[in-house]
Amino acid sequence: VLCVSQSFDFFYFVQQWPGSYCDTKQSCCYPTTGKPAADFGIHGLWPNYQDGSYPSNCDPDSPFKQSEISDLRSSMQRNWPTLACPSGSGIQFWTHEWEKHGTCSESVLDQHGYFETALNLKNKANILQALTRAGIQPDGKSYSLSSIKDSIKVAIGYTPWIECNVDGSGNSQLYQVYLCVDTSGSGLIECPVFPRGKCGSSIEFPVF
Ligand code: 5GP
Ligand code: 5GP
Ligand code: 5GP
Repeated sequence: VLCVSQSFDFFYFVQQWPGSYCDTKQSCCYPTTGKPAADFGIHGLWPNYQDGSYPSNCDPDSPFKQSEISDLRSSMQRNWPTLACPSGSGIQFWTHEWEKHGTCSESVLDQHGYFETALNLKNKANILQALTRAGIQPDGKSYSLSSIKDSIKVAIGYTPWIECNVDGSGNSQLYQVYLCVDTSGSGLIECPVFPRGKCGSSIEFPVF
């Protein structure tokens, strides 16, 4: 059967720590709406295959339309802020995420459904609360990779993948947290496959 929308096996739901985006050599720019809260922000909801590969840019005929998510705008600004330079409102970031990733799950979620699903997932998967309850705080100190993963597993119920980047001095730090989501977008699942990439065994959790 001919079909524009590609199938996929699961989503990665990816959240970013703003302190770790901003303290790198490249630095960051706050959105035009002001400095985001000191909380994890959404990076994206990414359709993926079981073998680790993923589809992208699946439908050039489905451009991002602001008008379709006007009711979500203030929640998007709070929960999905952009930190790239130059400063923007978020429209460019959300356009990129919809066109690269969202169009690959269009058979399940239309544009409104896609962004609403990601916002709902952030409410269900409160990473900062999971970490702080275990005494892991964004205080510039270092924590073990296993303690970070365990605290998220205990609070949220699923094993996360941690992506690290390096600060301006070359220290490994907590950058992004990956959780897996079923193809309907309704619930978290154990990840069928994990991403790749190294963290140090001791990871900094920078202030934001
Ligand atoms: P990076 O190279 O920084 O890890 O990833 C760059 C971009 O590639 C990500 O922001 C995302 O758009 C895409 N990407 C990287 N890894 C994955 C993955 O495992 N699954 C999907 N769907 N996209 C990915
Ligand atoms: P991905 O890595 O999802 O393919 O793409 C990320 C793209 O969105 C990059 O072009 C990046 O410049 C842009 N972008 C805008 N704001 C942000 C942000 O806050 N975090 C990240 N990771 N990328 C952002
Ligand atoms: P294990 O399967 O024993 O937990 O880990 C095998 C290897 O993967 C170790 O080098 C460990 O540091 C690394 N690893 C485990 N979990 C993660 C994670 O969430 N993120 C990253 N970047 N590496 C991990």
